[in-house]
Parts: sequence; C-alpha cells; structure tokens
Amino acid sequence: MRICFLFDTRAFAIPEARYAVRNLALLMGLPARLAPAGSPLGDEEIPVRVGAPAGTGEAAAVLPVGTWEVWDSAAVRLAAFEGVPLPCPEGRFPQPCSPAEFPEPWLRAVAWLLTREEEQSETRRDEWECFAGSFSRQQELGILDAPLVNRYADQLHRRIAIWCARHDRRPDPLPRWKDGARFAVVLSHDVDDIRCYSWAEVFRLLGRARGPASYAARRSLAQALRLLRRGPAQGDPYWQFEKWMGAETRHGFRSTFYVFPPEPSPVHEFDPTYRLADRIEFEGRSMPFHRLLAEMVARGFEVGLHGGYNSFRSAAELRREKEQVERELGAPIHGLRQHYLRFDARATWSAQQEAGFLYDSTLGYNEAVGFRAGIAAPFRPWHPERREPHRILELPLTVMDGVLFRTLKLDARLAERRVREHLETVESAGGLGVLLWHPNGADARLFPGWWDSYERVLEYLGRRSAWVPTGAELAQWWTAREARVLVPSPDG
Ligand SMILES: [Zn+2]
Repeated sequence: MRICFLFDTRAFAIPEARYAVRNLALLMGLPARLAPAGSPLGDEEIPVRVGAPAGTGEAAAVLPVGTWEVWDSAAVRLAAFEGVPLPCPEGRFPQPCSPAEFPEPWLRAVAWLLTREEEQSETRRDEWECFAGSFSRQQELGILDAPLVNRYADQLHRRIAIWCARHDRRPDPLPRWKDGARFAVVLSHDVDDIRCYSWAEVFRLLGRARGPASYAARRSLAQALRLLRRGPAQGDPYWQFEKWMGAETRHGFRSTFYVFPPEPSPVHEFDPTYRLADRIEFEGRSMPFHRLLAEMVARGFEVGLHGGYNSFRSAAELRREKEQVERELGAPIHGLRQHYLRFDARATWSAQQEAGFLYDSTLGYNEAVGFRAGIAAPFRPWHPERREPHRILELPLTVMDGVLFRTLKLDARLAERRVREHLETVESAGGLGVLLWHPNGADARLFPGWWDSYERVLEYLGRRSAWVPTGAELAQWWTAREARVLVPSPDG
C-alpha cells in the first residue's frame, strides 16, 4: 500500500511544491509516489490531492496550492492550525472547506522553511558572514525550537490514518529510526584545538598576523604568556580525547569528530593552528594526532572534515582539504561541518557536494538553539537557482555548547536543563537532534561546566529510547530509507 499524491497541472509545475511533498512523505515513511494530473490511481493507493481542492472526491487529504509567490519574511506572522503554529503572510488564511483539506499556506510554509527562502532574500550577515540566529524570522516568532515540518507530517499522517480506517486498510510505515528508537541524536565535536600549550602553534599563529593589533598577533601573545606563566610542565589540559570517547562508549554511543585540514588555503587567522602530525597524548601514550584519529575510526567513531574558514564557497578547496585529511587518516571521510558555521545557502551545499561529501552538518546557529530549517530530520537541501534538491544530505545542527555558555550564559545545571528541554521536543517529534561540544571543553578550568553538562546529557540519553549513531551512519540509514519510501515518478 502506498500514498499517491495526485497533483493538478499547475501545482505539479511548481518544483518547490513537489519538494515539500516529498519531504513530508519521507517523514511519514509510507511508500509514496508523486503523480501528475490525469495519472490513474492504483487500487492499493491512498489518494492525497495537491492543488485546486475542487472535485476532491474521496481523497484522504487535500493540500491546496495557491499562487506560490515569494514571501516577504518580515511580513510572516504566526497563525495556528490544529494547535500547531503556521507561519504565513500576515498570519491569516481562509478556513479550509472540508475536514480533509489543509489551509492554503500549509504546504507553502513547509517549502518556506526547508528551502531557506528567508536566507535568499535577507541580505544581513554577521561578522563571520553568517546568517545569524538573531536574523531568523523563526527566532523572532519564537518557533525556532519547534520542529514544525515534523508536526505537519504528523497532521497529514493523521488524515491518512482516518482514511485508512474508513477503508479498512492497514498501512505499515517504515520506522524512522533504527531498532524502533523514538528519536535520533548525533553527538559531534569540532576539533578547533588539540593543545592548550604549544610554542609551535604560537609561532604558526604569529606567522598569520597582518599587524600588531590583528587577532592573530593578540591571540599568539596571549598564548605565549600562558606558556611562560605555566613554566616547565608535562601534559596538556586539552589531551582529554579518552574522556569524550570513554563516556560515550559507556552508554553505547559513538560520536563524530570533525578535524581540521593541515593546509587550508588561503589560510585565515581564525583557522586552527594544529597539524595532524602534531603529537598528543592519548591513554598515556604519546602519538601523532592522526594516529589517534585512526584509532577513533577503528573503535567505531567517525572522523569528518572541519572545513577551513575560507572554504565554504569553494568545491576545489573543500576537495583539497578532504584529501589532506584522508591522506593522513588513511581512510575515506564522508561528512563535514564548516568552521564558525560559515554558510551560504546559495553556494555551500553545491561546493560540498561537488567535493564529494555524503552529508553536511553545518546548518545551525552560533547563537541559538533550534531547527534552522524547521525540520528535525535529515533532508536534501534545496538549490534555489536550479530549483531542485541537492544530492548531499543535511543533518541540521541543533545545539552548540557555545550557545549555552556564551550566548545564553548558562551554568552547567541550566545548560543541561535547556538541552533536555530541546531533546524532549526532539523525542516528541520523533526527530533528530545534533549536538556539538568542542573537545577542549573538557578542561573545566577554562570552560567551567561544559563537560559536566555534556556528561549529564549523555546520562539522560542513556535512559531514553534514543538511537545515537555517527553522522555517517545516520546519513546512510536515511539514504537507504529514502529509496524505499519514494517511488520513482516522472518528475525525477
Ligand atoms: Zn570550528
């Protein structure tokens, strides 16, 4: 049994409408096909009409498609449909005519969230050229931490369940997550530093300084003073990789470490200064960092790329950086996250895809918790010029340590509570949350509370029905599931 989304001619000609429908179908997990006007309905198919609601007959649901103009994000306000917030122009919509029918802006809102329409039209960028959380209309409307697309998929699923009960059919959706888990969480670490004390890194940083007042000059001076104050000492407070891996392993979890390429080009003063051949200590042994990375992979952890500061629009540079890490790791890498979350919705996914990545996990905010694309699940991001989805998969980042401790200025207890609230939201939506803690946060002297909050979040997750795979495992799972849900249709 499968769903047939029967489009009218005008709705089928809107690629964004087909894209929104495909993402809803994927969340529901029932096999589905998209059919153009006139396509006959199979005996075993559940009809959902998309487009003009006239003559809807016995459809399980009707998804009206209006004029589909670009939305002025500043004019988007909140309405509500069946208790779920519905962003739409001026917050108004005409009431649907029948119980099976959805409001006209409903499908349009799914596309507005997923295609990152507001990031195309909004020109403001912060000091790192990021579309900041504070620019987001979702944040302004208080819906950033609400996985609305998941909620809309639930609303549609309920209509389909009612229709199936009436027609004595028993649909059997594919599980969203492995082993019947209620939700999924990816634990991730951006490796910006591997040593707190290193003269080599002081000089590398100094070599990037463009003047005595530059960030590189100031930061290298601070690091030199830190070294001088310490005097002769052994060890380094940042050598705590066994702590991260050990705590995660105890709960049966494996995380993803995004590591920096040794030679980003052009290098930026904000780029990390470590190299993969630099020595660290791990479990009491001294070794080059790349040997630890190989050890991580051998133990089921994932190593991905932390893309250089200047790489986020360049396929050639991302490919070079990927190859640099793969060469020293001795294994292929599949995923990445851009340093500083630098991101351009018009260029970054294309560059990453061309560089050969299976997935990205950058789409989150440096200063806000929540779902940047309104979805708590992997999705194929939208290419606004070609008006088609990319092949690369996005695992949207939802919580970063810095947001909790720097932006929101929480202590360990309050940070843990905030993350738990977020994870409760993810669980109730049957969704995906992606957490990012920086590995140097295990140094409680410089980062008080960062490690403690993480450890308690792991304990919380250990008590829940959560699937906690690496980013690459999750991307592979979703890709395989997608092939079973979406039946090929003439729209490609
Ligand atoms: Zn970084």
